[in-house]
Amino acid sequence: MKYVLVTGGVVSGLGKGVTASSIGVVLKACGLRVTSIKIDPYLNTDAGTMSPFEHGEVFVLDDGGEVDLDLGNYERFLDVTLTKDNNITTGKIFQFVIEKERKGDYLGKTVQVVPHITDAIKDWIESVAVIPVDGKEGPADVCVIELGGTVGDIESMPFIEALRQLSFFSWSSQEDCRKLDGPFTDNFCLVHVSLIPVIGVVGEQKTKPTQHSVRELRALGLTPHLLACRSAQPLLENVKEKLSQFCHVPASNILNIHDVPNIWHIPLLLRNQNAHDAILKQLNLLSIAMPPALK
Ligand code: ADP
Repeated sequence: MKYVLVTGGVVSGLGKGVTASSIGVVLKACGLRVTSIKIDPYLNTDAGTMSPFEHGEVFVLDDGGEVDLDLGNYERFLDVTLTKDNNITTGKIFQFVIEKERKGDYLGKTVQVVPHITDAIKDWIESVAVIPVDGKEGPADVCVIELGGTVGDIESMPFIEALRQLSFFSWSSQEDCRKLDGPFTDNFCLVHVSLIPVIGVVGEQKTKPTQHSVRELRALGLTPHLLACRSAQPLLENVKEKLSQFCHVPASNILNIHDVPNIWHIPLLLRNQNAHDAILKQLNLLSIAMPPALK
């Protein structure tokens, strides 16, 4: 299984959900089958009891799961039918681990965030990613995982650690692993969504908040392969170069998602910047994917 992880930095509400769904659309247009998982690091087991004034629409899935509205985006953008297990929350993971502990499944061991919670997160992701959601048989080619919240939040730390481990050990099969003599990382692509604000009357696009959030991510062991920069106006070329230099991401992998009147423009925005090429290259899928059919 190949994973595309979408994280967010600087502020919340940047458009991680829309970006992740749009990435799914461009990959699907390349002929790949795509599934998705949304991680919400809150302690609620699901979004069913959360105030819509605070949290937006509660999306109800076909299996009755009451989940974050981003899963609605995934279903609409990708034409898939997700299940409640495609939405992971801290509440669900802790409930699962605590129930196992009460049954004695840990055989008297001290149950800890690392490795028990992080292992439960990895197992959950790996088992849900292979469930077909597009009506066809067999697992999808790519699973897009969106990590809710902002990198550096205390509550997302167990997920970041689990995803760091997954990024290193997500081999295609045990056989591949033996053949290549150890873990390899071309099954994992990290897209970091960040904000490029404009300060003052000069109208300069500022890269520092993004530099800091990439540094935070790298300190936690995750290196972004692509940056998706949210800005009010299209990103200037020199700003892209600066980001590339300071964030250790090739300029061709810096995408700009500026404000658009309608979120359905975003897959096209990504296609026009060859986001699919950069992602497929990172996932070592260039040879099997078709050119994007999006017009
Ligand atoms: P997050 O997942 O980071 O919290 P969402 O994907 O839910 O953010 O997006 C937050 C809001 O911003 C949504 O209402 C979405 O429609 C809007 N949005 C996202 N990207 C853009 C964009 N490029 N232009 C205009 N609105 C956007």
